[in-house]
Amino acid sequence: MNIKILGCSGNYVGRHRTTCFLIDETLLIDAGTITDSLPRKDFRKIKRILVTHTHMDHLKGLFPFVDELAMMGEHNIELVSAAPVLDIITNNLLNNLIWPDFTVIPSANDAIIKLQDIPLEKLSRLDSVSVKPILTTHTVYTVGYVVRQQDGEGFMFTADTGPTKRFWELAHDEKSIHFIIADVSFPDRLKDLALISGHMTPSILMEMIDRYGLGDRTFYVTHIKPIFGREIVREFVRSGRHNIRILKQAETLTI
Ligand SMILES: [Zn+2]
Ligand SMILES: [Zn+2]
Repeated sequence: MNIKILGCSGNYVGRHRTTCFLIDETLLIDAGTITDSLPRKDFRKIKRILVTHTHMDHLKGLFPFVDELAMMGEHNIELVSAAPVLDIITNNLLNNLIWPDFTVIPSANDAIIKLQDIPLEKLSRLDSVSVKPILTTHTVYTVGYVVRQQDGEGFMFTADTGPTKRFWELAHDEKSIHFIIADVSFPDRLKDLALISGHMTPSILMEMIDRYGLGDRTFYVTHIKPIFGREIVREFVRSGRHNIRILKQAETLTI
């Protein structure tokens, strides 16, 4: 499995793009950036978008993408997530007020967007990968994921979350996880803001790692607010923990 990081920042500013991971050219996790990160020839290869939650930094790439697909014709995609996430999208975004309802365009039977809800904490097969959503602790209904290829090897992604319990309990028990991509948005001095907005700081992540016995796992930090980038990196360097790396835009992780 190749995971190309199209965006992994906590804000869309300058060269920084927001959360969007492309798996084996066909599956996106979140849609923070699509048409401004991929050439048009790659658009048709994308079959599904697995969504963590409905905040705009995770969905803003969806709108120009589906518009472009409508212009290109003969291609549709599946939006996959837990049912409450899909409900928020259809009720609040694809509602003909914010953006056209591409779940019925060009027709209800042959729409650009098809919706597929998947159950929490169960593996659902999506062609060559299987995914398991786990509820996390953010300001809106949000799921992280276990993502596995057919031989069972995989990774986990916290999505946006503050301190949370179930995700880390499962992370402790899940086998064959090569790495965990985890949200750290703010430096430690902004811990209160992190907690209010449902994100982590370096110390909060390290506390989770220690509390749930995950010290032997590899972590990639994502969702750093660009303005705090250097400060957060310094805090991790000072911690001396070699199992925590910073996820980089445009890199490809391989399992
Ligand atoms: Zn969010
Ligand atoms: Zn976010």
